[in-house]
Amino acid sequence: MSDEKPVLTQAMKVAQAKPKSDYKPAYVSATRRQQKSYTIRLWSVRNSRLLEWFYARFANFFLMLHPLWRSIGYGRAEAPVKFVERRVKGLMFDCRMCGQCILSSTGMSCPMNCPKQLRNGPCGGVRANGNCEVEPDMPCVWVQAWKGSQNMRDNAAILKVQKPVDQSIRETSAWLRVTANAASERERAAGEAGEKA
Ligand code: SF4
Repeated sequence: MSDEKPVLTQAMKVAQAKPKSDYKPAYVSATRRQQKSYTIRLWSVRNSRLLEWFYARFANFFLMLHPLWRSIGYGRAEAPVKFVERRVKGLMFDCRMCGQCILSSTGMSCPMNCPKQLRNGPCGGVRANGNCEVEPDMPCVWVQAWKGSQNMRDNAAILKVQKPVDQSIRETSAWLRVTANAASERERAAGEAGEKA
């Protein structure tokens, strides 16, 4: 019989050093993250094709309203739009308002729910059942992203390398940013076409 002692990781040492208590609040997981039901998030992934279709129309509608946003001022429109965006996307995707939404590339699975906030695929710790290594009850957001992306029309978008999160635009509206960018792109293209004519 081997008398080798098991190797203790730093995380195990910290856990062992904690005072023992029978009390664990009902709403937190073993790692003290807020416990959630993932039902709606998983529904969104299963219905990624429908949501992709819907989002394309919604984005066009928002772009049509560009003159309105501009006359109000994008800055002034921010608060009410953000209020709605946070609630709708919070309900559907457990959105964390990173301000640089990539749901259309990730099968409608929000990567900001990854405890490591990885934006380019899963870590090496995905469990055999497809759940997260940090949150054992949570399906890995990247396993879900792959499933959702395969239902979508642009199913290769998930292979695109994503930039690191720009923390300076956290808590801002991705809807308004995408709209303003699309509007200036449209104006630039119209300007170029006018010069050529
Ligand atoms: S990628 Fe960002 S904006 Fe999109 S759902 Fe996730 S946290 Fe929200």
